[in-house]
Amino acid sequence: MTTLLKTLKEILGPQGWNCDPEELRPHTTEWRGVYEGRTPLLARPATVDQVAAVVRACADAGVAIVPQGGNTSMCGGAIPDATGEQIILSLSRMNRVLDVDAANFSITVEAGCVLADAQEAATVAGQYLPLSLGAEGSCQIGGNIATNAGGLNVGRYGTARALVLGLEVVLADGTVMNSLRSLRKDTAGYDLKQLFIGSEGTLGIITAATLRLFPDPGQLATALVGIENAGVAVDILASLKTALDDRIESFELVSQRVFGLVERHIPDATLPFTEEYPWYLLIETATGSTPQLLEDALATEIERERILDAVIAKNSKEAEALWRLRHSISEAERQDGKALKHDVSVPLSKMQQFLQRGDELLARLRPDLRLIAFGHVGDGNLHYNVGLPRDLTEEEWATEGARITRAIYDLVAELGGSFSAEHGVGQSKRAWLAEYRGGAELELMQLLKKTLDPANILNPGKVI
Ligand SMILES: Cc1cc2nc3c(=O)[nH]c(=O)nc-3n(C[C@H](O)[C@H](O)[C@H](O)COP(=O)(O)OP(=O)(O)OC[C@H]3O[C@@H](n4cnc5c(N)ncnc54)[C@H](O)[C@@H]3O)c2cc1C
Repeated sequence: MTTLLKTLKEILGPQGWNCDPEELRPHTTEWRGVYEGRTPLLARPATVDQVAAVVRACADAGVAIVPQGGNTSMCGGAIPDATGEQIILSLSRMNRVLDVDAANFSITVEAGCVLADAQEAATVAGQYLPLSLGAEGSCQIGGNIATNAGGLNVGRYGTARALVLGLEVVLADGTVMNSLRSLRKDTAGYDLKQLFIGSEGTLGIITAATLRLFPDPGQLATALVGIENAGVAVDILASLKTALDDRIESFELVSQRVFGLVERHIPDATLPFTEEYPWYLLIETATGSTPQLLEDALATEIERERILDAVIAKNSKEAEALWRLRHSISEAERQDGKALKHDVSVPLSKMQQFLQRGDELLARLRPDLRLIAFGHVGDGNLHYNVGLPRDLTEEEWATEGARITRAIYDLVAELGGSFSAEHGVGQSKRAWLAEYRGGAELELMQLLKKTLDPANILNPGKVI
């Protein structure tokens, strides 16, 4: 290890590494504090050649590398293990916007570019990068692609995968694969970039990406509505899609319990209603030039008695206040303490059934569970988190947690859904992958991993 560390320091130069355990704590601790690891060195390369040289040196020494972006992963994906023998490779110095090709509606950035900076570069060019999530001020494009991030606008624009046109990737032996093309059509052989999207740093290190841009959707209209029953959300979505010509940018479902946590833990966060409703929908539409459209569509839903009450933001300040409520959920949850996290998806047509059967299931499993449900219901994705009684011992928590999680994942699987809709698999969901993606799918994943990373030096212990 000593020889390797000396080589890495020479490759990276004085600005490019850090070995101070105290200064490295933000890099060795997960965002929620659930996972903590150790590392002898944080590598901060400034160029793709440095990344390649670091990977070659680590491959020669048989030392593992944990790629890290903004470290906002929710499942321990970017954290080294406890041995203190895995190098962290942070992309944060490779943060430049390389090109905005407005005529081609595309942007090329280095992997360490913070998502909000990439969005801003698109806006400056009069275009729109639709990837948007609560962590956008610190997560990086490389991390977004490595986790196939979803977020708030998936229903209309797809996940990160749908936005990637080209990638530059450093492979496990230090070879640089340059597929940084910006084409919408390309049938030349296998589409290799797809392998690395969502692979969570286990197959290669993404160093740059070209992403699709869209026309600026213009002024957005934002509304918060109260509903009685989460099951009607899908019906409301279907009517609004038709009424608004599919111009729905976001469609988020949040339970009263969850907004209650936000009001309790986040200063100045208050719902704009005088009454409480069991569930809420935060809806954003690209109907700016004809704001009446959203109002009319919501009025129809009120007449149909599917919506109980609605508030439409009158200006961008009010819209921001509504979004602040939504974006504060993860922080409020964190402050509220430990809960079982289930980031699941089901086909939209099964959402109503999932919510109803989920309620019945939790009541059967234990009467004292607290459901903390919210999510991007417009694309079939729910954070279906569950709070257990606070007086359980660690041991009881572990056994009860596993029992409840299994029952929820079984229900999700029965309805044709996925136990991992966002955030990736990381460390926390690894065992479940073997269970719910076993057989030919898992075998092929293992074969790909062995082929692309035979020495298992890229983020070992994650995903598979
Ligand atoms: C408040 C909050 C809200 C969030 N909301 C959402 C949401 O709505 N939707 C969603 O999908 N996620 C969400 N997340 C989770 C997280 O932000 C995303 O998974 C994000 O894409 C991770 O990006 P990152 O740069 O922080 O990656 P990291 O956390 O640093 O890494 C994540 C994984 O990607 C790998 N990786 C990172 N960079 C690279 C690279 N250049 N090459 C190869 N592998 C790499 C890491 O090894 C790790 O396995 C949220 C997180 C927070 C804290």
